[in-house]
Amino acid sequence: MKSNLNNLTRINIQNLSPYQSARRIGGHGDTWLNANESPMSALFKCRVESFNRYPECQPNNLISAYADYVGLFRKEILVTRGADEGIELLIKAFCEPKKDAIIYCPPTYDMYAINAKIANVKIKEIPILKNTWKIDLFNLQASLDGVKLIYICNPNNPTGNIFSKKDLIILLQVTFNRCLVVIDEAYIEFSSKDSMVSYLKEFPNLIILRTLSKAFALAGIRCGFTLANEEIINILHKVISPYPISTVVTDIAIQALEKNEIKNMQNRVIKLNKNRVWLINKLKKNNFVKKIFDSHANYILVKFYMFKRVFQHLWEKGIIIRNQDHKINLQGCLRISIGSDKECLRLIEELKNLSKI
Ligand SMILES: *Cc1c(COP(=O)(O)O)cnc(C)c1O
Repeated sequence: MKSNLNNLTRINIQNLSPYQSARRIGGHGDTWLNANESPMSALFKCRVESFNRYPECQPNNLISAYADYVGLFRKEILVTRGADEGIELLIKAFCEPKKDAIIYCPPTYDMYAINAKIANVKIKEIPILKNTWKIDLFNLQASLDGVKLIYICNPNNPTGNIFSKKDLIILLQVTFNRCLVVIDEAYIEFSSKDSMVSYLKEFPNLIILRTLSKAFALAGIRCGFTLANEEIINILHKVISPYPISTVVTDIAIQALEKNEIKNMQNRVIKLNKNRVWLINKLKKNNFVKKIFDSHANYILVKFYMFKRVFQHLWEKGIIIRNQDHKINLQGCLRISIGSDKECLRLIEELKNLSKI
């Protein structure tokens, strides 16, 4: 019997291509510079020994630890299975399928649009302005009809830029009482003065996403946070699954938020920011490099001459970076995560070798 499972699938899912995560794309090598992970690992041991009981839905101690770290009240925080779950829960709670829309501003993180597609929610694309990477406030303001959520990634992935506080405040003002502005601060520890956390009091339509996956070097445990006013957090409590955060994750995350571990995280950030400066200076001297974009995060976006050759050569040498050429206004661009000293050096050496071929 011929199976007809595709016909049973929702039409929007039939036509969906899944998110091309670094792990899905694959590659073989020893130098992984494609997922913006931390090259150094913090070392933890799980202190919990028995697991027969379900965890709390929102583990109290973990919420308290993060509240102390960001200087907010506990009721303003939701813990989620990575920041990715926060992106999804917001659409689930606020967007009516086929009726409401989200706005996102490419080139940026793909998961905003993918989650909207899964939920059958409309998508309005308002690209950031070419090369200056500023928010197109004029077009955005003219496109607010039917919009419930606006996703802004700050620092933006993959361009690396920060949006000015002035523009973000204008955005919050023009959307006040109309829709919610979600600022994804997955990389904010690399540029901490640019966080919008202090504006949560002033703007009830502001939502901030955070994660332990990047600066905290804990991508493997899947832990993120949504920060917003109490009313929004209570709405999200309605749609989150009953036990999203495993006991193991909570145990490790609480350790990562202890004072000395926060200090270690900040030292890693200083080190990676230094490596970024080093890498940029070396890349400037390479013939294949056409343009290096300013970055405030643990990755850089670089426009290359013959980008395919560069990508392929590095791939073959086991140095895996991320192709961004298919994205709007990023022709010939590759994104490189900032690695350890050794990894940065390898990358530069291999680029030099390519120049000699
Ligand atoms: C990595 C990343 C995330 C995902 O964070 P998780 O907590 O690992 O789910 C979210 N947003 C952006 C912009 C990212 O780059």
